[in-house]
Amino acid sequence: MNRRSALKKIISAPIMLPSIAAFAQDRSSLPPHHGENGFINTDPGYAEAEFTEMAPWVAGKLGDIFSSAPKVDIPREVNDGSIFNQNKPYTATWIGHSTVLIQMEGKNILTDPVWSDKVGPFKFAGSPRVSDPAFPIEKLPPIDIVLISHNHYDHLDESSIEELADMFPDATYYVPLRVRDWFEERGIRTIEEYDWWEGGTFKGLKIICTPAQHFSGRWIGDRNQTLWCSWVVTGKKRFYFGGDSGYCSHFKNIGTKFGPFDLTMIPIGAYEPRKLMKPVHMGPDEAVQAHRDVRGKKMLSIHWGTFVLTDEPMDEPPKKLYEAVDALRLSRDDYWALKLGETREW
Ligand code: ZN
Ligand code: ZN
Repeated sequence: MNRRSALKKIISAPIMLPSIAAFAQDRSSLPPHHGENGFINTDPGYAEAEFTEMAPWVAGKLGDIFSSAPKVDIPREVNDGSIFNQNKPYTATWIGHSTVLIQMEGKNILTDPVWSDKVGPFKFAGSPRVSDPAFPIEKLPPIDIVLISHNHYDHLDESSIEELADMFPDATYYVPLRVRDWFEERGIRTIEEYDWWEGGTFKGLKIICTPAQHFSGRWIGDRNQTLWCSWVVTGKKRFYFGGDSGYCSHFKNIGTKFGPFDLTMIPIGAYEPRKLMKPVHMGPDEAVQAHRDVRGKKMLSIHWGTFVLTDEPMDEPPKKLYEAVDALRLSRDDYWALKLGETREW
């Protein structure tokens, strides 16, 4: 337990909701994804899943939220952290779900850091974790940059962020629009908040907030009040972190503007039932297409094997990934389903 109160650990639901009123201002000068009542997806092919179909599915999942799930045997290898001290210019290590440690040109970058056992509004209610993180959070090397894709609990985890803030007080958090408040409420001040296509520099790296097709929300009434995004980081090499996204035209746009990428991190899990998930989560075949659209060289698969979110078996996404890779006669060497804890150079 760190310096923050035990009570806050138990009740981790956000107390403050972003102001809906702020969206009602003159929007004529704002980009189209700034909707009247929140942020919106703008791809012409986007259609939200029908509420009448989504509601019963969500109701059926409630049992998972209040129970634990049996562990699933996701391949893992021991990582004692020594590789992070070898001054390798470009490494990527899968820690679990969308949490990846990237080493790039002397900087240590962490994506959507989540070490919790359950991800949800309360410690006793959330999607259960079925595979432990690759190593304890204490084993991380000094973190310079944390990239956050959106505020869903499986990407923005309060206890992990609080531990990181204690361990690395100088780390800078890159967040999409309106997520800054959440960090400030927790005493964090080193935040860079951007809209899509905006960005900044960090010691020789360019960090750009790029679109995704998804949604946001942590509690009743805050749906889509904060933005969702993907991230581009460029230096001598460049990588793309896809966050959470349905398949859409954004990928080609990002590839045109910022590709090719030496490494991409693309979500391959949380796709069943397909009809309900397709607008906001890609299947493995679409992930392969997204990687090609952004003009990626190597793809590291994220968002699988960790939290019970949707209906497909936990170990299915990599199998479907390689089916898609084989069907297109692509090289399996370019599509990585890493073991937990595995580090590769890129
Ligand atoms: Zn999400
Ligand atoms: Zn997610």
